Amino acid sequence: MEKVRNFVIIAHIDHGKSTLADRFLELTGTIPKEKMKSQYLDMMDLERERGITIKMQPVRMQYGDYLLNLIDTPGHVDFSYEVSRSLAAVEGAILLVDATRGIQAQTIANLVMAKEQNLIIIPAINKIDLPNAQVEENTKEIANLLGVEESTVIKVSAKYGTNTKELLETVIERIPSPRGNGDAPLRALIFDSKYDPYKGIIAYVRIKDGKIRKDEKIYLMAAKSEGEAKEIGFFKPELRQSEELKAGEIGYIATGIKEPGKVRVGDTITKLLEKENAQPLSGYREPKPMVFASIYPENPDDFDLLKESLSKLKLNDAAFTFEPETKEALGRGFRCGFLGSLHAEIVSERLQREFNLNLVISTPSVVYRVIDNENQEKLIKSVADWPENLSQIKEIQEPWINLELMTPVKFLGKVMGVLEGIETQHKDKKYFGQEKVILIYEAPLREIISGFYDKILGATQGFASLNYEISGFKGAKLVKLEILIAGEKEEALSRIVPEAKAYQEGSSFLKKLKEALPAQQFSVALQAAVAEKIIARETIRAKRKDVTAPLYGGDYTRKRKLLERQKRGKKELKEKARIRIPSKVFFEIMKR
Ligand code: GDP
Ligand code: MG
Repeated sequence: MEKVRNFVIIAHIDHGKSTLADRFLELTGTIPKEKMKSQYLDMMDLERERGITIKMQPVRMQYGDYLLNLIDTPGHVDFSYEVSRSLAAVEGAILLVDATRGIQAQTIANLVMAKEQNLIIIPAINKIDLPNAQVEENTKEIANLLGVEESTVIKVSAKYGTNTKELLETVIERIPSPRGNGDAPLRALIFDSKYDPYKGIIAYVRIKDGKIRKDEKIYLMAAKSEGEAKEIGFFKPELRQSEELKAGEIGYIATGIKEPGKVRVGDTITKLLEKENAQPLSGYREPKPMVFASIYPENPDDFDLLKESLSKLKLNDAAFTFEPETKEALGRGFRCGFLGSLHAEIVSERLQREFNLNLVISTPSVVYRVIDNENQEKLIKSVADWPENLSQIKEIQEPWINLELMTPVKFLGKVMGVLEGIETQHKDKKYFGQEKVILIYEAPLREIISGFYDKILGATQGFASLNYEISGFKGAKLVKLEILIAGEKEEALSRIVPEAKAYQEGSSFLKKLKEALPAQQFSVALQAAVAEKIIARETIRAKRKDVTAPLYGGDYTRKRKLLERQKRGKKELKEKARIRIPSKVFFEIMKR
């Protein structure tokens, strides 16, 4: 155990965590040169296509006598549950700061989480190779934030490998070896998992005490389920079998268990033989999804497949929730809870890719709280459950957040411009050094789940960043805005909006919808309604094929006949076809 080091790399999104991990993989010869590719630990196609890390990824490396377990983490606020679980598996963290951006919102949010776990923090400034790097200023900034000497901040270029060897050696020097009792009963903390059809659910574990060998009987303490260590091993980063895992190490246990509900992150694995003598570890706080969207299979026969896929995906993404729901227009599906709209988008992408499902997804919305005249409270997760009879409702409430926006002073005006467009309450403004300011606002969560972050990034060339936490529920004046396509209510598009903004939201939504929907064979009316009253309207014009083009000259009757036939054909088409809205379109609409 003396020669083991467990650590994470944490940072704001894009500050270079995965690139730094690449250099460590090279330095330790974990990945042979010819196999190396950039951001190697972004192992999902989806991560590579988007250039962002979505999942934490552990990897074991050997450096001299030392065994190093590194976990690369995501930086986007929607995936902070991944970060918090990784932190509980390690003793230290490299806190990486991009020298061209300096400290940003998730730098601070992740640092706070790491300190709560009492981790040793090693600060590093990255991207020192860039001409616009402000190395000295940012070194000062991070040293101040941590209350350490500037000389302890390591300056690296993850891209070119400058000083990355020194950084790795500092990890070994400053991060303590894990503590734990190798002879005590086994206690392994499950920090992640994934489904495997042959070996059963694979639990990613940090062994806190004891040891485990292949084929031993295991026991999951919270779920009270039994299993067998069909295979054990470590991350290379692919799964690599080994004989034994012992106290202080990070690795995996294939549990042989096939039912997804029985293996949960935060649970403690012990041996069946030792279960009476082991105390469960403290586990994780359950995340609280506040953003909800309905997911339906395009083909109703796929309902069971969707259900199974959701439970399997949940093993690999502990932060979302799902429960069955039925909607007239869409059939049977699920109401799913997410940590934000990017999270919703990623889950739906993964379902389609990893399980080959075609899905219909509703516009994400927040959860509402309705209090009736008898003071009964009800949480409303779906627009479909919105009360019809408002006379029995005393109050409707919605979740509010504490929003922290960090921006260089020079973009303050632009940021304020974006903030003026949404409902907020100003709370505080703090200067951070001389060039940055942190704005603290309260705002309804609803305001920031549709495109707000993108607007802020756009207004500040990507320099501003934000973080938020739910602060509680507050009363709100809201109405249900319904969308009709060709006269039919499109359940999946209805949403709850502030009463005062219903017209504005309705008409701007229709414009976006019109742009996003593919051209149709016939003209289609798009309408927005509140309480059965149409408040806005748009029309998608028919794309007309010129059926008379092959005709020369002036044979007017033939021409008319052809046009008549086209008209009839379109009418039939219109009656038969319901317009399908591909799930891609939903996310496109939301982002605009
Ligand atoms: P992560 O989101 O923190 O994992 O960041 P990535 O490792 O994916 O890197 C984000 C972007 O920054 C990528 O385009 C990298 O090539 C780039 N990058 C990372 N480190 C450096 C560096 O030291 N110098 C330069 N010039 N670019 C870097
Ligand atoms: Mg990354």
